[in-house]
Amino acid sequence: MADEASIEAAAACLRAGGLAAFPTETVYGLGADAGNGEAVARLYAAKGRPAFNPLIAHVAGLAAARRIAIFDADAEKLAAAFWPGPLTLVLPKRPDAGVADLAVAGLDTIAVRVPDHPVAQALLKAFDGPVVAPSANRSGHVSPTDADHVLADLRGRIDLIIDGGPSAVGVESTILSCLGAPTLLRPGGLAREQIESVLGHTLASAAVPADDDAPLAPGMLASHYAPKAGVRLDAQAPRDGEALLAFGPAPAFAGTTFNLSPRGDLIEAAANLFSHLRALDAAGANTIAVMSVPRHGLGEAINDRLARAAAPKE
Ligand code: AMP
Ligand code: MG
Repeated sequence: MADEASIEAAAACLRAGGLAAFPTETVYGLGADAGNGEAVARLYAAKGRPAFNPLIAHVAGLAAARRIAIFDADAEKLAAAFWPGPLTLVLPKRPDAGVADLAVAGLDTIAVRVPDHPVAQALLKAFDGPVVAPSANRSGHVSPTDADHVLADLRGRIDLIIDGGPSAVGVESTILSCLGAPTLLRPGGLAREQIESVLGHTLASAAVPADDDAPLAPGMLASHYAPKAGVRLDAQAPRDGEALLAFGPAPAFAGTTFNLSPRGDLIEAAANLFSHLRALDAAGANTIAVMSVPRHGLGEAINDRLARAAAPKE
C-alpha cells in the first residue's frame, strides 16, 4: 500500500543502501541510491543483468535535476514542456553530482528523469537525492506494470515494494540525448512528434535497443567509459611498465595498483570497476594488467565490461 508510512520506509531503505521497488507512470522501477556504488551493484545483481548499462537517475523536479546535470537551451525547453513525465534527457553530468561511477557506467554524462506519479514524487522528495531505477524485473523479462509483476520476478531479491496500482503509461520513457543536436536514443512513452513540435525541427535518431536489458552493440553508442590504456586480461602477474588492476589478494608489485576488492567480493568489485579504470588512466597507465575475476553473479557483467575495455580501439 502506498501511504506515508510505506513511503518513509522506502526512503529509509534507500538511505541504508537497500533496493526499493516503486511505481512510476511508465513502469515499476527498482530503486537504489544513485550515490551508493555498492547499492547500485546490488541492483544489477538483483536484476541478474549480464552487462552494466548506464542507469536513469530519477529526481523530484528541475531543481534537483540541475544539481546533477548541466542543461543547455534545448534541454531547458524540453524539461519545461515535459517534466514531470515520460521523457529522459541525457545531459553532461555535473562534476559534483555525487553519483556513483557504476550508476553511469563511468561516463561523464547522465540520463535524468522526473517521473509523473504521486508515489514516485513523494518517495523522491522524502529521499531527497537521485535514485537510479531501471525496470523492476529480472533481466530479459518484460517490464512490470503492477506490483504483482514485480513480486513474481523479484520476490526475495529486493527489500521492499510500494504498491501504487497499475502504471498508466505502461512503456518505458523516451530517451533523448541533449549532448549536441537532440537525438532520439529510445522511443518510449512520449511521442517523437511532441518533442519535435517543442523543438521546432525534426529529431535525429540513434538506434539503441528498446529493451534496456538488451546488450548494446559495442561502438554503436558511447554508452560506457572506455579506458585510454591498453588492457591485458587474466594476468597472473603484472609485467614491468604495466599498471595492475587486482581482485582479491594481489601479488607484490611496485607499479601503480588498484584493487577492485581485496576481500574478493563481487559487489564491491562492481562498485569500484569504473572508478578504478578512470584512476588508472589518470595515473598515466599505458597497459593495465587485470587479474582474473570469477564469472558467477556480478562477475559476468564485470567480465563483459573488462572484455570490452580490452577490445581493440576503433
Ligand atoms: P533504464 O534501464 O530503463 O534505466 O534505461 C537505461 C538506458 O538508458 C540504458 O540502457 C542506455 O541506453 C540509456 N542511457 C542511460 N544513461 C545514458 C547515458 N549517459 N548516455 C547514453 N545512454 C544512456
Ligand atoms: Mg527493462
